[in-house]
Parts: sequence; structure tokens; C-alpha cells
Amino acid sequence: MPVTLRGSDGVSYRFDPGALCLEFVTTGGSVVYPRYELLHEPADLSRWTAESRLGLDRVETTPEQLGRAKALRAALWRMAADRANGRATAPADVAAVNEAARLPPPVPEMDEDGRTARLAPATGDQVVSAIARDAIDLFTGPYADRMRECAGYGCHLLFVDTSRPGRRRWCSMERCGNRDKVRRHRAQSR
Ligand SMILES: [Zn+2]
Repeated sequence: MPVTLRGSDGVSYRFDPGALCLEFVTTGGSVVYPRYELLHEPADLSRWTAESRLGLDRVETTPEQLGRAKALRAALWRMAADRANGRATAPADVAAVNEAARLPPPVPEMDEDGRTARLAPATGDQVVSAIARDAIDLFTGPYADRMRECAGYGCHLLFVDTSRPGRRRWCSMERCGNRDKVRRHRAQSR
């Protein structure tokens, strides 16, 4: 599910990170994302969870759970950046993700007529678990070596390239892709 980001120039653009765990990384907090910080208080995590591809709209989060979510986010950001840049994964980050995944995950349930599945009301810790489990699937799965950092100048957004040819370079074609086109066009006409 694409997220809407706002650049330092104030222009909004759509960015699809390709996986739940990387979508969570875009909520802020790391070295390059602090200006995007979206999780200031526990209710912010509940709001994000409803809007994310997890689509879980009944979440109660405590301050401690928000703290665990942010610690997981920092580990995920480093792991994805390391993988995207061909560096080895830090054992401490792996341990942090593994620990988060051991929390109980969200539980599926059916609506009253038994025809539609959804996730039962959950806690912030269950959300942390879902994100960590998604990360384990991603980092060890078929797209393990498809983690990318946007090739745009000064852009450090992380995504997983799930396209068949595997040549995705940009966070967003309309943003960094176009800027690169304009830059190259200018260089040529000079
Ligand atoms: Zn970019």
C-alpha cells in the first residue's frame, strides 16, 4: 500500500515501500527520517496500523508498547539499509527483530455471518509482532536481495523491489524518477 510523504520542498508524493515492515520504517525516527516522525503518542501507532496494509483498526497501545515499536523500527531501518547497500546484518538488530516476533501476533476472526475474515481487536505489542514477523519473511524470503535504497540524489527511502525485472530504482517515479530525468536533460542541453 503506498504511503503519502511530504518532501522538504513541501510537495507530497506517493511511495510504495513494498512490505509492511518497510512501510513501518517510513513512520520516522531514524537518522534520515526524523522530520517525518508520525508516532508521537500511543494513539498514533493505532492510527497508523488502521491506515497501513495491516488494516487493523481496533488497536489499544500503551506508552511501553510504543517504545517497543520504535525500537523495532530503528532495528528494521538499519537492517534494510545494510541489506540494500550490501553490508552484513548486525546481530543486535537481528536479535531485536527476533525478540519482537516472539510476542503474540494479531488473531484472525470472522464477522457474524461467518463470511468475512478480519483481525480481532489487538494491542500495540501484537502490532509489533506482526511487523517483526513480516520482516523475518522479507529478509529471509524470495525478495531478500531485492532491498533497495532510492537512487535519487539525497533520498534515502528504502523499499523492496517486487517487480518482475527487478530494476526499480526510485522511491517514486513521479518524485525521484522525474527529478533524475530533468537533471539529465539539463546536463545534455548544456
Ligand atoms: Zn527517492
